[in-house]
Amino acid sequence: MQPAKKINSFELIIHRLEKSHLDSIETHHTKQASTYPLLKIVLGKGNPRRVLISAGMHGDEPGGMESLLSFLQDEHYLSYINHWEITLLPCINPHGYEFGTRENHEGKDLNRLFKETQPPTEVFFAQSVLSTPFELTIELHEDNESAGYYLYQKGVDAKDDELGFKILDAIKNIMPINLDDEIDGSSADQGVIGKSIDISKMDWWPMALYGLSKGVKRCLTLETASQFNMATRVDAHLTAIKTALNYFSNKY
Ligand SMILES: [Zn+2]
Repeated sequence: MQPAKKINSFELIIHRLEKSHLDSIETHHTKQASTYPLLKIVLGKGNPRRVLISAGMHGDEPGGMESLLSFLQDEHYLSYINHWEITLLPCINPHGYEFGTRENHEGKDLNRLFKETQPPTEVFFAQSVLSTPFELTIELHEDNESAGYYLYQKGVDAKDDELGFKILDAIKNIMPINLDDEIDGSSADQGVIGKSIDISKMDWWPMALYGLSKGVKRCLTLETASQFNMATRVDAHLTAIKTALNYFSNKY
C-alpha cells in the first residue's frame, strides 16, 4: 500500500484563521495519537444567544471550512455579534482534511460516533463544546454526488420546520436545490430531510442528534453540492448561515 499523501495544509488553515482572529482562537491539544490541535473560536463571548457553527467533520469536504474562513475574513459575523455568542469549530477532523479523507487518522467516520461512551478524541471535543446549551447548531458539509443543495433539520419545535424551507428558498438563485424524493437513503421534501425519529432507539448518532439530546432547539446539517465551484459553494453556505441567524434573531 502506498503511504497516504497530504493534499492540504492544516497549518495554512491555522495561519489564515490567525490572520483574522488572533486573540480568539483556542487550541486544544489532545493526549491521543492525533497530533493536530483541535480549534475553537468564540466571537461575542458572553452574549445571551448562542450558536455553534462547525465544519470539517469529513476531511474530504473542504467547502464547509472555506465557508467558515470567509465568515471570519469577510466579517459576515458583524451583524450578529451584538446579540449572539458565536462558537466556531472550523475543522473537526484535521487529519482527514490534510489527507483528503472522510474519516479520521484511525479510519473512523466521526459523524457516526456521537452516541459512543468512549468516542475518538475529535468527537469527545465536539461533545464537550455541546455540554453548554446552544439554541442553534449549524454543521457544514458537502456532497459530491448531489446535483444541488439540500439539508437535514431537527428541532424541538415543529413550528421552526419552516426554517429549512426558508434557507433553501434563499439559496435557490445561487445553486439549484436537490428536489429528489430520496437523498442519500433518506426521504426528502423539496430538499429538506427531517423525518421524525425516536433518537433514543437509534444505534448511532451524528453530531446533530447529540446536540438535540443536549437541548439544542434546532440542528441544521447543510449539504452544498461539490460539483459547483468553491465560491458558489461558500456563497450558498454563508446564505444559509445568515438566513438561520436572521430567523432566530427575529423569532426568539
Ligand atoms: Zn459530510
